[in-house]
Amino acid sequence: MKERTFTRIFQNGTRLFIVILATYFAVMHQLKGVLGAPNAHVFCPFGGLETLYKFLADGGYIKKIFPATMILFVVVVVLTIVLNRAFCGWICPLGTLQSLFDRIGRFFKIKKVQVPPNVEKYLSSIKYVILVVALYFTWRIGDLVYGPYDPWAAYTHIAGGFEELYDEFLIGSIFLLVGLIGSVWIPNNFCRYFCPMGAFLSIFSKLSPTRIHRNQETCINCKKCDKVCPAQIEISTKPNVSSTQCLACGDCINTCPVDKTLFHSIRGKSPLRWLVYGIAVIAIFFVPVFVTKYLGIWKTNFATAQEVVIDESGALNPYNIRGSMTLEEVTHTFQVPAKFYLEKLNLPQDLDKGRMLRDLGKEYNFEAEIFRELTAEYLQQQQPEQIQEKPVEQQSTGHDMKQEESIASHSAADIRGKTTLGELLDYGLTKEQFQELTGVNMPDDMSIQLKDFADQHGLEREGIREKIIEILQH
Ligand code: SF4
Ligand code: SF4
Repeated sequence: MKERTFTRIFQNGTRLFIVILATYFAVMHQLKGVLGAPNAHVFCPFGGLETLYKFLADGGYIKKIFPATMILFVVVVVLTIVLNRAFCGWICPLGTLQSLFDRIGRFFKIKKVQVPPNVEKYLSSIKYVILVVALYFTWRIGDLVYGPYDPWAAYTHIAGGFEELYDEFLIGSIFLLVGLIGSVWIPNNFCRYFCPMGAFLSIFSKLSPTRIHRNQETCINCKKCDKVCPAQIEISTKPNVSSTQCLACGDCINTCPVDKTLFHSIRGKSPLRWLVYGIAVIAIFFVPVFVTKYLGIWKTNFATAQEVVIDESGALNPYNIRGSMTLEEVTHTFQVPAKFYLEKLNLPQDLDKGRMLRDLGKEYNFEAEIFRELTAEYLQQQQPEQIQEKPVEQQSTGHDMKQEESIASHSAADIRGKTTLGELLDYGLTKEQFQELTGVNMPDDMSIQLKDFADQHGLEREGIREKIIEILQH
């Protein structure tokens, strides 16, 4: 077997293995919940970039992100500096899925759309805008704001059902469909135009000494490389591919009819065999994973339900309850009798407590979030004296006196998703602080609940709530 054919099989095998592994984790996470398997964000290095600000500030991680994500982020940056965008062409499962659809299109001889160069240039800059916006809001709000728009997150929630995709990942699902089906005509369109991680890596790829090199003396100018390139780069006219759009996929090397005419090279001088390049990619990516796993640093998910709901102050926070937790885990962690939930929600007494909250919600027609509210209510009932003792300095905004007194006897930590915007002002939050935090002017209708406001503006409910509490407590 020719080395080129072997390398192609090796590359495709690696990519397929990663897709299958990631899909397996995604399905297990949906079936077994937050303790059963890691969530999709853990293995996406973009999560590492999103948590970077918090990690540098206090060594912590934003929700759904674990040390493994940060390790992958560092590994991928190093990989890019050394071997260009090899992560995109060899590892990224979303890139692999798009390549699959690209090949399906080629198999059925569907003609590719040639995007005019000036339009391509304009479209490919969209991903930098997405990168800046996603980082700005994530770092300010302290939560994964990109999640609902992320096609990979949508893909990994397919097993959760259409309803979950529609409710939580509508835009991500649209990106996914356009990215995959659209790749039949415009290959890897998500990578080329919309991927914020691709934008980030393309900046680092500038530092890489590794490029695709073309031997101009042996090239027969057949232009087959141009036709197969998923990034629509005109390879046949250049000595080196310097475009940051190059995904390092090697499709051009594989297609070139003249052996050793296209190859990876270091600074355009030292040729790097494609197989050696591939082995180096796998080594740089996987060795740190195994080493950190061996050293016990590699952590991908929570070990106990308590870890899931604990907040930064070390307290159990009912608003961290996830739909993927079981009723048993909630009752055990918060010491709330199961009977309390069963009565409040009119659920059968012999209910299987080992079922996930979101499954119960689907079957009995309520939102899993109700468990957060009920748990908070129960805990509040258990500690009324403590709550009333908390001092408050508030300014009146003309609300009903009774309501005001009630709020004035609570602390900011009592702010919930059902707290109205008017009540937030009573807690002491100013309109300016609210606008700075959410990026949206406070509406005239003060009766809107915080959770509804967050949903309307695509903001993460819990992230906003925590930031408000943080501001009020300082
Ligand atoms: S130039 Fe070659 S390696 Fe780069 S994206 Fe195009 S086909 Fe892939
Ligand atoms: S496929 Fe190979 S021979 Fe054909 S134009 Fe590209 S580099 Fe030259």
